[in-house]
Amino acid sequence: MSFAKPSKKEKTLFACDLDQWLAKEAHAKSAKDLPQAIERAQFQALAEVLERAVQNNAFYAQRLRQCNLSPRNRQDMAQLPFLTAEDLNPYTRLLTTSQDLVERLVTVSTSGTTASPKRIGLTRNDLNRTRDFFAVGLRYLVKAGQSVAVLLPGGNRPNGVVDLIRQALLPRGCQVLSVNTQDEAWPEALRAISPQVLIAMPSQLHWLKCQRVSLPGLTGILASAEPLDCELARQYGEYWHCEVLNHYGLTEVGYGCAVECPAHGGMHLRALDVLVEIIDPRTQEVLPVGCVGEIVVTTLKHQAMPLIRYRTGDISSLIAAPCPCGSPLMRLGPVLGRLEAGRVVQLPKGGRFCLQP
Ligand SMILES: [Zn+2]
Repeated sequence: MSFAKPSKKEKTLFACDLDQWLAKEAHAKSAKDLPQAIERAQFQALAEVLERAVQNNAFYAQRLRQCNLSPRNRQDMAQLPFLTAEDLNPYTRLLTTSQDLVERLVTVSTSGTTASPKRIGLTRNDLNRTRDFFAVGLRYLVKAGQSVAVLLPGGNRPNGVVDLIRQALLPRGCQVLSVNTQDEAWPEALRAISPQVLIAMPSQLHWLKCQRVSLPGLTGILASAEPLDCELARQYGEYWHCEVLNHYGLTEVGYGCAVECPAHGGMHLRALDVLVEIIDPRTQEVLPVGCVGEIVVTTLKHQAMPLIRYRTGDISSLIAAPCPCGSPLMRLGPVLGRLEAGRVVQLPKGGRFCLQP
């Protein structure tokens, strides 16, 4: 689905651009219809992805042979087995298309010393769907014609995360510049760009603030790739006099997953591409909305290697609707920690994880 600018009428019907975008694909006529329309579309897509997985992939055919392949709701979905990081190795195990259709193969950096490298295959269509999510999700922060500096790694990789941000913002005349933080002079390079929007990891923001790097002209910051501490986000906003929004991304789902809106009421989900559940990591039971547990994702539209109930290891919660912005949809809360070897590793201020005492 390509992103088209919403008409005036559509804008008044829905609280935000992301809702309008989701409504279009889910065929929702109004904000009131949106939650049900999204859920209908999610479970229709889930049935399709399950069918495709068992038809085209021996691993899934074996694993799902006893399962109901037409779950109608989250309770039905609970009978499907979980995937873990180990199941992603080798990546060909989960491929449901020919390898020839894999346009980008990403190696996921893994924490810990014993974890095997994970690789994720994405088709052109998988990449395009991420680009479209970025196009609409970045509307909260980036205005037409603005310059955007990105500190995330992999700035020169075709169809990497920075390139997809570039592809997403190009139609609105934005200039997206990657800053290579491996280069010693990167703070000077960033100053020289004098961006209006900065996309960076929280640890990079923390470093820039500690070094008192001023960025006059900055109107917005998108924090991504690491958990963002809410209090620090407020401090960054005060320090640089700009809006700071949080993004939850995961290479496994094609980078983009959820983005905060300026109402700061949680991150709006890419709900038609990623179905999020929160489970108790000890009992593996699905937890009600509002409870803190492990994020489990199902990619509903991925062609190359759909992930069905993939345990991310990230700790968060779903936030009940509505958002203060008016959206009637559930959002994702901030990431509060991470599971490492069965233990919860908590997030301290500063953006990095440390082991719980
Ligand atoms: Zn909102």
